[in-house]
Amino acid sequence: MITDTAIDITKTTQSRLEKVDFDNLGFGQVFSDHMLEVEYAGGEWKQPRIKPYGPIEVPPALHVFHYGQSVFEGAKAYYVDEETVNLFRIEKNYERMARSCERICMPPVDRDTFLKGISTLIDLDSKWVPRKEGDVLYIRPFVTAFDSVIAANPSETYRFYVITSPVGSYYSKSVKLTTSRKHVRAVKGGVGAAKFAGNYGGSFYPAKKAKEKGYDQILWLDAFEHKYVEEVGTMNIFFVIDGVLVTPKLEGTILPGVTRDSVIQLAESWEIPVEERRIAIQEVIEAGKEGTLEEAFGAGTAAVIAPIEEIHHSGTTVTPRETDRGPVGQRLYDTIYDIQRSRAEDPFDWVRPV
Ligand code: PMP
Repeated sequence: MITDTAIDITKTTQSRLEKVDFDNLGFGQVFSDHMLEVEYAGGEWKQPRIKPYGPIEVPPALHVFHYGQSVFEGAKAYYVDEETVNLFRIEKNYERMARSCERICMPPVDRDTFLKGISTLIDLDSKWVPRKEGDVLYIRPFVTAFDSVIAANPSETYRFYVITSPVGSYYSKSVKLTTSRKHVRAVKGGVGAAKFAGNYGGSFYPAKKAKEKGYDQILWLDAFEHKYVEEVGTMNIFFVIDGVLVTPKLEGTILPGVTRDSVIQLAESWEIPVEERRIAIQEVIEAGKEGTLEEAFGAGTAAVIAPIEEIHHSGTTVTPRETDRGPVGQRLYDTIYDIQRSRAEDPFDWVRPV
């Protein structure tokens, strides 16, 4: 357990825990009793505070409303037993958040504040970590611009928050994808590799259009040639083509997923050939037609491994041989799921208790 000496803690006097229906959680709808709040002003992050979760009063001129300077993270806490709650590779979330902050011209929160803050918060709200199989406590850290000035310059004050939400198990039915002829998610030199709020706001319209046509998510292609596969919805993408696990190389437009990295390390340790390279959409379509597209899946914190059952591009639709999780996807899913809950050996030291 981490000591909380540097964190100023005000506990709630009225826990809302009893009111929560842990049998019907949904996603991101209820928030646990406490939150972490850290202010940045005068060039430094101040003392972290944990206080009761609740509204924050802000002025209409709040910088983030106008210029969108805001980044976030997504992670989970896993119930193991009455004494143990696990975090999975949370340092990777810290590192990504620090890089996201830098790209959006915000001061990165210090590592200790992030790691110790999250551990202390979850330890305090440990009863909020769902016990039910598959359910987890979702962790949402974010940094946001807090100046009250209408000026298109970087804010000089910021807030870092961590809020947490008990969430139901993410049922990952197989998804149908389409590429988009008109829209892109990220451009070279842009902000695609940052977990920048605007990336998500910008994707809602094309995603809505894809849903209207009967697809679940967009298979994003590169913005320059509209030729190479990048990501799927808000996940990284993997294909198993002729026994090889392939995923797009990180070249600045793709969010470097924690799950993506875990998938690659595990597959390599099992001696499955892995290639990180450019993948033309045409190659995927051809592999689908020839029957060598064995599996296709998205990888991300929410679903871990989300099977893909259909890919549509420019009038052609292909189906992987496995329309549910195939042998590779299922092995990855089971292994990651079990490591997160300390039910399997943790060969890469990914897990640590709160
Ligand atoms: N790509 C995007 C755009 C995402 O939002 C996410 C979710 N954070 C991912 C990939 C997967 O990342 P991770 O495995 O760290 O959840």
